[in-house]
Amino acid sequence: MRYIRDIHADKQVTGQPTISFEFFPFKTPQGEATFFGKTLPALMTAKPDYASVTYGAGGSTREKTLEIVERIQNDFGLTTMAHLTCIKHTRAEIGGILDEAANRGIQNILALRGDPPPGENWAQTEGGFEYASELIAFLRERGGFGIGAAGFPEGHIDCVEGRETDWRHLVGKINSGADFVITQMFFDNADYFRLADFLKGQGVAAPLFPGIIPVANAGQIKKFSAMCGAKLPESFASRLDELGDDAEAVREYGIEYATAQCRELLDRGAPGLHFYTLNKSKAVLQILGNLDLA
Ligand code: FAD
Repeated sequence: MRYIRDIHADKQVTGQPTISFEFFPFKTPQGEATFFGKTLPALMTAKPDYASVTYGAGGSTREKTLEIVERIQNDFGLTTMAHLTCIKHTRAEIGGILDEAANRGIQNILALRGDPPPGENWAQTEGGFEYASELIAFLRERGGFGIGAAGFPEGHIDCVEGRETDWRHLVGKINSGADFVITQMFFDNADYFRLADFLKGQGVAAPLFPGIIPVANAGQIKKFSAMCGAKLPESFASRLDELGDDAEAVREYGIEYATAQCRELLDRGAPGLHFYTLNKSKAVLQILGNLDLA
């Protein structure tokens, strides 16, 4: 397996975007069977450059995340990054998780602060890290891992000082040693380009991969966007309202919207696309097909 920074450098030489897929650990054996038996084989036909697997709130999926990453790498030959969060971990625990990741052949970590489980407030663990930048610095010092960081085109929801302050914290994460940034989902490309221009103005060379979610369910996307502070543009939200309970029409609109979003992002210089797949294959494959990238 390879460092994602090297995979991306090779793609840049060919002028092709770096395409990645994000998954979350399944909750049931049935979910696991569907993922490895159907979803992932279908997605592999698009020849992604890498994948990533999330880390549950409060570190609840520690073993599963590492196991799934290892299995994707071993069974499908696809470089896969493990997400890792600071929450509820001491430095010593994080060190142990990184040793285990290295033993499993994992070479890339998305270093995050993490969110507390529902109903709890964020609190630094005694002997742990307060911000993702500290985890990134710890990873850099340890060595052996390619490192990604999270970026927020609209500013992070907790950053009351506003988005530019949050973007300065992102520059801090890159200066601490992150190789690349993956953004939170967003629906107005102007937000992505504003952040990209800001980073360029700060002399940041690390690639900023836009995070794209194909909307399949109006209620679900409204819930996600409220949780993470990603705005739904008015025209987009009212079209979803018009489509109401027509699930197939919502799905088609989600694909059409994401296709147009991705096309403009790539035309205007985005270095790749990171898809929040929600462990599903059809919409992502259709979008990549529309873009002639599958
Ligand atoms: P940080 O960079 O630490 O930022 C957290 C807050 O602190 C921000 O408001 C920031 O502006 C502020 N801040 C940062 N540095 C400083 C400083 N030096 N001084 C003062 N304030 C500062 N969550 C999970 O639980 N599991 C996952 O697998 C997961 N995957 C994700 C993948 C992507 C691509 C993204 C975009 C997010 C993901 N998240 C995940 C969510 C993420 O953990 C939360 O959004 C979290 O609240 C912020 O994480 P961060 O790494 O950006 O934190």
